[in-house]
Formats: sequence, structure tokens, C-alpha cells
Amino acid sequence: MFMPTTDVLIIGAGIAGLGAALKLQRQGYRMTILEARNRAGGRIATVEHQQPSSHINGTKSNAWSELGAEFVHGMEPHLLSLFNEAGLLLNEESGPFSFIRSGQVLDAHEDVKGSATILAALYAYVGPDCSAQDFLQRHFASKHWQQARAQVVSYIEGFNAARLEDVSVHWLQQCQHAADSINEERQFRPLFGYSRLIDWLVQQLGSENIVYEQEVRRLSWSPGSVTVQTRNAQGERENWQARATIVTIPLGIWQAPAGARGAIAYEPDLPSKWKAAQDLRMGAAMRVVFHFDDFFWEQEGEQQQIALPGLGFLRSDDPTFPVWWTQAPLRVPTLTAWVGGTQALPLAEADEASLVEQALQALSRTIGRSIETLRSHILATATHNWSRDPYARGAYSYVPVGAVDAPTRLAEPLENTLFFAGEATDTLGFTGTVHSALLTGYRAASEVTTALQIE
Ligand SMILES: Cc1cc2nc3c(=O)[nH]c(=O)nc-3n(C[C@H](O)[C@H](O)[C@H](O)COP(=O)(O)OP(=O)(O)OC[C@H]3O[C@@H](n4cnc5c(N)ncnc54)[C@H](O)[C@@H]3O)c2cc1C
Repeated sequence: MFMPTTDVLIIGAGIAGLGAALKLQRQGYRMTILEARNRAGGRIATVEHQQPSSHINGTKSNAWSELGAEFVHGMEPHLLSLFNEAGLLLNEESGPFSFIRSGQVLDAHEDVKGSATILAALYAYVGPDCSAQDFLQRHFASKHWQQARAQVVSYIEGFNAARLEDVSVHWLQQCQHAADSINEERQFRPLFGYSRLIDWLVQQLGSENIVYEQEVRRLSWSPGSVTVQTRNAQGERENWQARATIVTIPLGIWQAPAGARGAIAYEPDLPSKWKAAQDLRMGAAMRVVFHFDDFFWEQEGEQQQIALPGLGFLRSDDPTFPVWWTQAPLRVPTLTAWVGGTQALPLAEADEASLVEQALQALSRTIGRSIETLRSHILATATHNWSRDPYARGAYSYVPVGAVDAPTRLAEPLENTLFFAGEATDTLGFTGTVHSALLTGYRAASEVTTALQIE
């Protein structure tokens, strides 16, 4: 049987796989990316709507929605330089933060002060690792901190897609340190959507080097040689051979039961990897995007409902979707609903229609507009349940108490032949972001080139 042979097989065409491929290709290696989906980008996925958006930077474009990554968090130089090389523009996010509790708009400054005190104490904590929940119970349990504590919980869970009861304080400290190093309080959005970067990468790599609808089922290896068996869209098996392989599958796939869609059987088996993967956690997060015909939330309305002129971010005490944001400074009538961590878990089985409906109800509760009024303004909606997605099985990873070394264990190469990348293998404190995944891809590519040179 004919078996395509190359230097390096890369499993997964997310940003980690594409980044690794770019590095390898630029150093003259032959590589092939095997991707289970019918598109590249993985958890970066922009959808374009038929509805026109307003003129943006002098260009008339259709409205778009992000299903996965939306923000460029901070100024990580490798990611920024890719955008630069691709000639893609980033828009710095702006607009005020608003807080709504029990239907009242709060003084954001007062609220932030208390939560900043708690977060500063958490980041300065010295002692054995513990969960964020234990930390808060030990140090900020009194009624005095109740409101600020709720903000901190919402922030930690919402941003990290983590559960307060098991997320590691040591890991949160590492993340904060890393965030400070790249100025993460500044946030940007790729103009016209994150997938533009993916399109550019695919074009650079050459579409012949990426094979879609090839779900890797089995990987047999010995030092210096790998055979990968895939199942294509027609259910046929194909075999691929290389000197080395970079595995970039998401943590949710590592944790999937044997035989499940996406799960890979390794021969010989990789017990150290299974253990590292089981020690980590795949977080849940849901987002629903609404494109409206009007900025109705900026006016008070007939019943003197809440008005939020110039809204940027909104945090509330809603139990289903507590976070909302606009596209400010872009002047488009779009609202995005977000929930992450424990609060997102009850939605893990929801289908897309149900997510849209629940977000609509949350918006109605939060800003006091009737469901009918909200519905009458909708032009388009978009959502994707990553927890139900067979090739993601969750949103992004986080580190629970006592497992701060698990990403390093998951990332360690085996016998100069198997290499590992993807956001869950981040060891720098950037876990769960696009830049983390990109950097792990670059790291794996340089490990491969070192290994192949030695032989
Ligand atoms: C809702 C949501 C919002 C987010 N928001 C942000 C944000 O604003 N900013 C930010 O920086 N990050 C954000 N992230 C995180 C970011 O999207 C991810 O960290 C990053 O895209 C992960 O890239 P990756 O290459 O590691 O994994 P993936 O993108 O998941 O790529 C892995 C690839 O492997 C493929 N695959 C899986 N199994 C197999 C198999 N058996 N055979 C072949 N292929 C397989 C998958 O289909 C996928 O294409 C968000 C994520 C989600 C879900």
C-alpha cells in the first residue's frame, strides 16, 4: 500500500499546529498537517453573516462573529509579529466597565477597589498550593467582602473557564506574572475576525500540506519512525509515515475515553501523557453573539429601563450569562454574552438554539427589556458549544491544585520522535490563549529540528 512519507506529521491544524508547521517549513523541513475537521483554525473560528456591518476603516464588510478566540490578550511579541507579517489590523478594545447588581447600575470604581484588594492578596499569597475557593474562605470570608468576593469569583471563573473549587492559586499567580510581562490589561481584536490570521497561515503553508477530514485514530511509533492511521470523511483508513510527529490535540481529546471520536490509540502506549492529561482540567465557557439593528441598550426606553451609553464591558449577577460586551471602539450594534467556569457547566449539553434562548432571557433580566423587544431587534446570532464539539470537548484548559507541573509533563518530548504542543502544554503561564498555543507550536518545532539534526 502507498504510504505518504514526510519529515514531520503534525496532528491538528489549530494555531499550535499551524505555528509549528510554519517554523518547520521555513527551516526547510517537509511536513504534513492532518486535521479531523473540514477547516483549519480549531478553536479559532470566525463566521461571516449576510448582514452588512457599518463601514469599517473605509471598508464595507459583512458582520462577523467569533465562535472561539476573540481577543489578543496583551502584547505577546510572537503573535503580534504574525499579525504584522500578515498585514492584519488589530483594534484596541475600549469602552467603560459597567456593573449591574439586582437591576441597579453600580459605581464601577467602588466595586473594582474591593476586588482589586482580594486579587492583590491572592497573587501575593505565600504558602502551600490551595484552591482559590479555599483561599477566599480563609482570608476573605466575612460579610464585609461579600460583594467584592463575588466579583473576584466571577472574574477568576469567567476568564479562566475554571472552577473556583479546584483551580490552583499557584497557577493563578503564574498566570498573573505572565500576563504582567506582556501588558495584558491591553486587549485587541483582529479587525474582520481572528480567522483572517488562520487564512493567511494556510496560504503561507500551501494548502497541499494540510489534509482535512483526516481524524487520527492510531499512532504507532518507535524511535525515529511514526506511522499514523487516519479515518477520512468516507470512513476509509489511510496511513501516513514520518520521522517525527507533533501532537497538538486539545486536552479534552486527551481525556476522551478510548474509542471516542478524536481519541488516539498509541502503540506503545503513553502512560505518562495520560496521567498528565488526567491531572489537568478542561474548562467550560459559552458565548452567544447577537447582532442587533439598533443600540437600544443605550437609551432608557419607555419604562425608564437601564441605559448604558458607550458600553464596553458589563458584569452582572445574572446566574446564566453574567458578562456582556460590545465591539467598542467599533460602532456596531453587537452584544456578546459570556459565561465561564462553574456557571457554564449546566449549559454543557445545551444545543445552539437553547444557548441563544438562555442568553436572550439573561439579557432581558439584566437590562430590563422584554424578550419580544429584544427579539424584534435581532438581525443575526451565532454560538458554538465547544463542550459538545467532538474535536475540542471543552473550551480551554486550566490547572487544578497540586498539578502545576502537569503541563510540563504533557509537553515533554518522547525519544526524539513524539513532540507535544497545544495550549494545555503551555508552561509559561499563558494557558488557554492563542499566544500560549502558538508558542507551544514554536517550541515543539524547535525541539523537532534539534532532534532531527542529531540523527
Ligand atoms: C469560546 C472560546 C473563547 C476563547 N477566547 C479566547 C480569546 O479571546 N483570546 C485567546 O487568546 N484565546 C481564546 N480562547 C482560547 C484559544 O482559542 C485556544 O487556546 C487556542 O485556539 C488553542 O489552539 P490549539 O492549537 O492548542 O488547539 P485547537 O485550536 O483546538 O487545535 C487542535 C486541532 O486538533 C484537531 N484534532 C482534534 N483531534 C484530532 C484527531 N484525532 N485527529 C486530527 N485532528 C484532531 C482539532 O480539530 C483542532 O483543529 C478561546 C477559546 C474558546 C473555546
